[in-house]
Amino acid sequence: MSSFDKLNLSELLEQLPDPAFVMTRSGLYAAIYGGRDERYYHDGRDLIGKRLNDVLVPDKAEWFLKEIARVLNRNSMQVIEYELSNSDIKGLESSDGPNETIWFEGRVSSLSFKVNDEDAVLWVATNRTKQHLLQERLRALSMTDPLTQLPNRRQLNQLLTEYLDRVKRYSEIVTVLIWDIDRFKRVNDTFGHVKGDEVLVAMTRLCRRHLRRTDWLIRIGGDEFVVLMPYTKKKQAILFYERFRAEVAALAVDLKIDGLEVGVTAGMTTIRPDDVNKQIVNRADQALYQAKGLGRNQLVTS
Ligand code: GH3
Ligand code: MG
Repeated sequence: MSSFDKLNLSELLEQLPDPAFVMTRSGLYAAIYGGRDERYYHDGRDLIGKRLNDVLVPDKAEWFLKEIARVLNRNSMQVIEYELSNSDIKGLESSDGPNETIWFEGRVSSLSFKVNDEDAVLWVATNRTKQHLLQERLRALSMTDPLTQLPNRRQLNQLLTEYLDRVKRYSEIVTVLIWDIDRFKRVNDTFGHVKGDEVLVAMTRLCRRHLRRTDWLIRIGGDEFVVLMPYTKKKQAILFYERFRAEVAALAVDLKIDGLEVGVTAGMTTIRPDDVNKQIVNRADQALYQAKGLGRNQLVTS
């Protein structure tokens, strides 16, 4: 086994790819080692001797101080995810330059010896920006329908949880409408799948035009869509449906699928405080089913 003298040890520390800061409880940058991977890190040496409050805006400095205190109190290594951008750095906070955000994973452990007569931690910062952005992208993809670029059923479930909570807590009125294209199979059968896709996209564009910024349009299945309308009573939602339906009727001509009528059937409900997620869409779906039975191209409320 090889043994290292002090010189070798400091050389080893300097060669560490990720930067390791020695930070005291009061926020002093006491030392820095490593950070050799220049793809990810600026040279942090000029931080030595400075304090968090000298370098970072008050809120961010406060956050770091709290985390240092937490690690010292627990006396165990903590893994902490955080982001830093120009707006967090003193002197750069109001710059017009690009506000590039860097995501870090900090692995922070308390040191058994005092530094400048203070408790201190070793804070190893790893740049995770690439992985973070990839993760975000995958998350967005998993929530989006590729044909229409609308949110999909997975996102609907999250939204319903969120809005159900608002209905329970703040008695907000949220109306949920499901619409489905009538006899859509005929469009595919007569004009082909590509035309069918075109009709789907055109219908969603049309629908979007009649919605407000706070409304959500979600594709939950083949030709089935949900409109989530916060702060909207049934009466207003019915008006939306009527306007949408009137324009859908003209769509067949625009899309050169003459001979086929394009209709849209809908079921509607409002979220109730005692609902669970599934009940909401089920109720609207039953109303839709009823409307189909009544002859299509109409709305039933539940
Ligand atoms: P109904 O009035 O009862 O709703 O009749 P429908 O023909 O619209 O209903 P059905 O559920 O039988 O058919 C839906 C069709 O939607 C069947 C399927 O081929 C088509 N479809 C589903 N997803 C897509 C898609 O992404 N693109 C295209 N072009 N067609 C799709
Ligand atoms: Mg249909």
